[in-house]
Amino acid sequence: MEIIQEKFIQLKQNLKSYLENFDEDLINRAWIFAQEAHEFQKRKSGEKYITHPLEVALLLSSWKLDETTIIAGLLHDTVEDTKTSLAKIKESFGEDASQIVDGVTKITQIRFGGSSDEIYVENLRKMIVAMSKDLRVILVKLADRVHNMKTLEYLEKEKQIENAIETLEIYAHLAERLGMGEVKVQLEDLAFPYIYPDEYKKVTELSKPYLKESEELLQNMKKKILMEFHKEKIKAQINYRQKHLLSLWRKLERPGINWDFGKIYDIIAMRILVDSIEECYASLGAVHKLYKPVPFLGVSDFIAQPKPNGYQSIHTKVFSKGGRIVEVQIRTHKMHEEAEYGVAAHWAYSELKKNASKDDESIEAGVSVSKNKLYWVRQLVQWQEELKDSDEFLAAVKQDILKERIFVFSPNGDVFDLPEGATPVDFAYAVHTDFGNYLKSSKVNGKMVSLDHKLKNGDMVEILKSKNPRKPSEKWLSFVKTTIAKREIKKRE
Ligand code: MN
Repeated sequence: MEIIQEKFIQLKQNLKSYLENFDEDLINRAWIFAQEAHEFQKRKSGEKYITHPLEVALLLSSWKLDETTIIAGLLHDTVEDTKTSLAKIKESFGEDASQIVDGVTKITQIRFGGSSDEIYVENLRKMIVAMSKDLRVILVKLADRVHNMKTLEYLEKEKQIENAIETLEIYAHLAERLGMGEVKVQLEDLAFPYIYPDEYKKVTELSKPYLKESEELLQNMKKKILMEFHKEKIKAQINYRQKHLLSLWRKLERPGINWDFGKIYDIIAMRILVDSIEECYASLGAVHKLYKPVPFLGVSDFIAQPKPNGYQSIHTKVFSKGGRIVEVQIRTHKMHEEAEYGVAAHWAYSELKKNASKDDESIEAGVSVSKNKLYWVRQLVQWQEELKDSDEFLAAVKQDILKERIFVFSPNGDVFDLPEGATPVDFAYAVHTDFGNYLKSSKVNGKMVSLDHKLKNGDMVEILKSKNPRKPSEKWLSFVKTTIAKREIKKRE
């Protein structure tokens, strides 16, 4: 059988594994529709064009997305590249599928590379409009981008670099903000060799012996841990993941590390997947029984205290053979899926819910984590509607979405996700818009600081309140970073 047909059968098998009663007939029709539309087209690689939408659909099925998204994946290039009309898609596959294809087509026409700031803003805005109607648009676009990056070698050099930069600057960030960690690192590593070819070569070659050594070490640890688990009747899956190359390179370049591989503890991290939260803690105990935790680096419990993007896991750094430090990550299967597939997992869960299956409580838990992840998307849509001025809109997006984030804590342990360079004033408005109006002074990690103090990752921030509400100072506008703070201050000016 032709390899393309085999892959299509694989796609249907994937669907069957998580969608109990999907409409096989509809998927077959979408498949025939796409094949006919792309019949005479070829990819730059020389392969039949249809291989591309098929790979995109396969990827979407690995994220366990619903039937409509899979159909949109199969059809996503038909309007862009062939004579097919949206009306025809709507007639055959429904409103939702045609809207997703429309959104993907619009985003595909946007080019970010080499544009002026103004055009860049307008493009970003168009992209957000297209994806805000239906988030599945961006999921299809991300899958499209992953496959295009995998086949980037066949494009001309100039296009390679343009696409790689766009991938790193826009799509990897979007994937991260959607909580799709796995997709983010995949995109980054696909772009890396095209943008920094020499650095890529260097880190690949120099890391080889360390990776090999670490793997042997971890294999050994795995055996011992599994034996201990067996004694304590913990059922677990243990694997390891290699630190991906771009983030390894970034870390090696840090002044404190300076290419000393011995200082990188998670070049390969061990991952322990179990069924329940209780087993997570039981596993932690069992691991520490065999391997002592490293003082001061110790344990981070993101189960008791999830990161603001919903990430849950326990991380511990332990001494293994010869004093080598190894990072061990412990989480449930469900947390793992959330961490890797983020927003996409949200659809998988809501799909489960629609079919009213399995245990409702854990499904609810999955969705509530995702709601957190979806928060910034809702914020984006709201700005898009409210901020008519395009400079203000760009500033909002650049500051709040595409920038690096820091996590800070309130005195009672709540976690807040703020853009880099945020100040206690930003923090106050993030806690509650009203809170900013009582802001008198602030402490960071127990010490008084000025209100324009730049917060750092992990800071504990305390706001001292005035008795009565006060008018925010105009000066604050010169240093606040978040859009919400700016808007609230202006409102009360
Ligand atoms: Mn495509």
